[in-house]
Parts: sequence; C-alpha cells; structure tokens
Amino acid sequence: MIPEEARKRLRRIFGKNYREDLPHLITHGSDATRIFFMPDAVAFAEEEAQVAETLKLANQFGFPVIPRGSGTGFSGGAVPVKGGLVLSLTKMRRLIIDQENMVAVTEPGVITEELQREAEKRGLFYPPDPASLKNSTIGGNLAENAGGPRCLKYGVTKNYVLGLRVVLPTGEVIELGRGLQKNVAGYDLLGLFVGSEGTLGVITKAWLRLIPKPQVQRSMRADFSSVSDASRAATAVLTSGILPSALEFVDQKSLQAVGEYLKIEIEAGASLIIQVDGDEGSVKNQIEKLQRIISGFSPLKMVVAEAPEDEEQVWKLRRSISPAINRLKPIKVNEDIVVPRSLIPEAVDFIYSLGEKYGLLVVVFGHMGDGNLHVNFMIEEDQREETEKAVEELFSWIIENGGAISGEHGIGITKAKFLRAQLGDEAYLLMKKIKNLLDPNGILNPGKLF
Ligand SMILES: Cc1cc2nc3c(=O)[nH]c(=O)nc-3n(C[C@H](O)[C@H](O)[C@H](O)COP(=O)(O)OP(=O)(O)OC[C@H]3O[C@@H](n4cnc5c(N)ncnc54)[C@H](O)[C@@H]3O)c2cc1C
Repeated sequence: MIPEEARKRLRRIFGKNYREDLPHLITHGSDATRIFFMPDAVAFAEEEAQVAETLKLANQFGFPVIPRGSGTGFSGGAVPVKGGLVLSLTKMRRLIIDQENMVAVTEPGVITEELQREAEKRGLFYPPDPASLKNSTIGGNLAENAGGPRCLKYGVTKNYVLGLRVVLPTGEVIELGRGLQKNVAGYDLLGLFVGSEGTLGVITKAWLRLIPKPQVQRSMRADFSSVSDASRAATAVLTSGILPSALEFVDQKSLQAVGEYLKIEIEAGASLIIQVDGDEGSVKNQIEKLQRIISGFSPLKMVVAEAPEDEEQVWKLRRSISPAINRLKPIKVNEDIVVPRSLIPEAVDFIYSLGEKYGLLVVVFGHMGDGNLHVNFMIEEDQREETEKAVEELFSWIIENGGAISGEHGIGITKAKFLRAQLGDEAYLLMKKIKNLLDPNGILNPGKLF
C-alpha cells in the first residue's frame, strides 16, 4: 500500500499523470502473460527527475515501484505482484538520430519500430527485431535484452548499447558510456543493467549503435518431411560460410495452424524460413548457394522470394504463427528455451513426448539459427497443473543438457523458481547480493527473478 502522505507527494510530482482510477489500474496490472495483480496507482513519467524523486519517495515510505513500457513482456516483469506504483515510461519519447556518428539517442518510451524507421530514413539500421516491435518500447527491450530473427547475424539488444542513463533504486542518477563506439573505463556496468528486468534501475536514456542498412534482403522457405532433416539442413547452411540474417524454424503443428488461419495448403513436417542480406550480387549468390545446399536434404518444396511481394508472403507465414496458434486453445503458456543447435531434433522430440505424457497440445517454432525455440503449451483452464509439471520437466531437461530456460523473454515471475537451478548457487547468490546492494529496501520491482 502507498501511504496517504506519499500519494499526496506523488500527485505533486506527476500532476494529471498520476492516476488511481480503476481503468488505469486494471490496464496496468498485467502484461502479455495475462497474469494480473492490482497496482495501487499508476504514474506516467515525462522527465528523469520525476523518476528520481519517485524512487527516493518509495524508499522513504517503503512502497514498490514497477517500471513499465508497453506491457508486452512474456515473463510477468511489469506485473505489480506486490501492488505499489506502476511507473510507466511510455511518455518519455524523445529520439535523436545522430547520423554522422551513427548513434540513436533515445528515451525509454520510444517504440522499437519507430526507432528502426527513423534510422532507416537516413540509410541506417537498428537490427534487434522482437516480433512485438510495433508495440514494445526501447526501455522494455533494454530491460529484457530483447532478441528476434535478425539477431542470428546481428546480435541482440545488448550488442547495440553504447551508453545508458539509469536512475538507481535509491534515486541517484548514473550515466554510463554515452555514445562512444569504444570505452573500457571501469567495470562493464552497461552489461549489468541491460537485461536486469527493471530490478536494478530505471533506464531513462540510451545511446544505441546504428549500422549501415543492408541494400537488399531476400528470403526463402524450405519444407521438409521431418524436424531432423530441417535441422541438418540448417547446420549445413550455417557451416557453409553463409551467415543468414534470419533462420527460423516452424514445426508441423504451427504449419497446420497457419495453413488453416491463412487458408493455404502446407504439407510438411517442418519448415525453415531463411533470409540473407547484402548487395544485389551477394544476395543472388547466397540464395543460389542456399538452394544447392538445401537440395541435399530432400526438401519437399523450396520457395524463393523473387519480388518484394513474395518476400512479404514468406514472412506473413512466420508472423501469422502467434495469431494462428492463439485460436487453438484459450490459454497459451509460452516458454523460450535455448539448446545447442545440434540438440534441436532431440529437444523437439522430448517436447512432443511431454505433450503426449501430460495430454497437452504443444506447438514449437522459433529461431533455429541460435537454438532458441518457442515452446507453446496450448491449454484449457483445467490443464494448468499438468502444464506446470510439463514445464518443470522441460526445464530440468534443458538445464541438464546445457541449455537455457530463457533466450529472450526473461525470468520475471514465471521462471523465477527455476533461476537458481539454472545458475548454480554461487552465481545465484551473487546476483542476489548485487540486487540487495543496489536496492537495500527492496522497493524496485520486488518479487521478480528471485
Ligand atoms: C506477440 C509478442 C511477440 C514477442 N516477440 C518477442 C521477440 O521476438 N523477441 C523478444 O525478445 N521478445 C518478444 N516478446 C516479448 C516482449 O515484447 C519483449 O520482452 C519487450 O522487450 C518488452 O517491451 P515492453 O516495452 O512491452 O516492456 P514491458 O513488458 O512493459 O516490461 C518488460 C520488463 O522491462 C522492465 N522495464 C520496462 N521499461 C523499463 C525501463 N525504462 N527501465 C527499466 N526497466 C524497464 C519492466 O519492469 C519489465 O520487467 C514478444 C511479446 C509479444 C506479446
């Protein structure tokens, strides 16, 4: 609960941007997990000073503060599990593209797609491309270290961070790095804050590296009769000297769901969607080489995008997976595991066997190139208990086999009970010490990760 005196002070800090009305409380109590907890209040920051004052107040009065972007998170990171103040950063939207230095200077509420579009207008490129990019904020991307298909070639969000301004949980502001391309002065604190899921500080400004925009992108889809053929073909591609800008995997059940959704016929056990980029000549060579390599793995079909409309068609299939599978059952429990790429066929078999064992519909797709699979248990309300058992078994298998329980969606609340097993005691306890050092009163996004 936020004490009355603190509420008065928050009203003074935020004016009309401080809200306690039910519609605001309800719309800020959940994220894409649909797990809901009621906050006590919501405030929309427009300036960094308001963030700093809020955190000082929270320490003085002992109430939780939960930073929030667009609420598209898949691990409950922005859910106010202990009530308190949801601090939305969506109104902090200043963005400057420094074309000469190839740096974007951005506030946290800028939408990912907007940053990409503004960079591209100037011939520049910001590669991290979460599928939620039309809605997600840069602040949320930084806090989750978001990835996406293009991260195979270009790396994830952290690979583009040159500097940050962060308000610490106790209200002090630190500036790390600014926009320099190289800087090794001191510990790599940027790395500490990127991916810290809103538990170590509130990001109020970022300097992000931009690169030249590739001239051409071209994609192809290859259908196979089995996951194993698709996986072997993917390995052959990645060890051939070509580094695709995306190499996505779609399993048979996802294909079936998309086929019904888009009203097209796709008969395959698994598909790969591969994109390459570069100049016209190199893209042409890469596509020809890909066709030759893939032919060696008995594909059922290969479709190469010859024109921009075909390119759109290839990716429409990939983008339609989420809406298509959402129609299968009322609830989606969405995990994003990572395994060494060579283990993908085994991992997929294991996942299907869990589906059979617990009587659950399970659908798998994801980023084949970096071994990051989205495992979706599509369930009814009364299947939650069985799903929990399946997820627990899945995570044990993943950890035993050298994988990770999250590749891009974070730990939040949904995976918190598995973090210690994933990290081992020493690393886990070190992380807790860091949290306690920075947030001695435990006011910033409590109940997450640990
Ligand atoms: C359909 C769909 C597709 C998705 N696809 C992908 C994908 O391909 N790749 C991927 O990586 N993710 C994906 N996601 C997950 C999600 O979009 C990302 O995690 C995204 O980065 C969250 O951004 P957001 O603005 O919605 O953050 P929120 O959900 O609002 O918050 C996420 C976390 O960030 C913290 N946070 C937010 N802003 C700040 C800030 N300024 N300072 C400190 N902490 C902050 C919050 O406290 C919370 O812990 C997808 C989600 C959906 C719904």
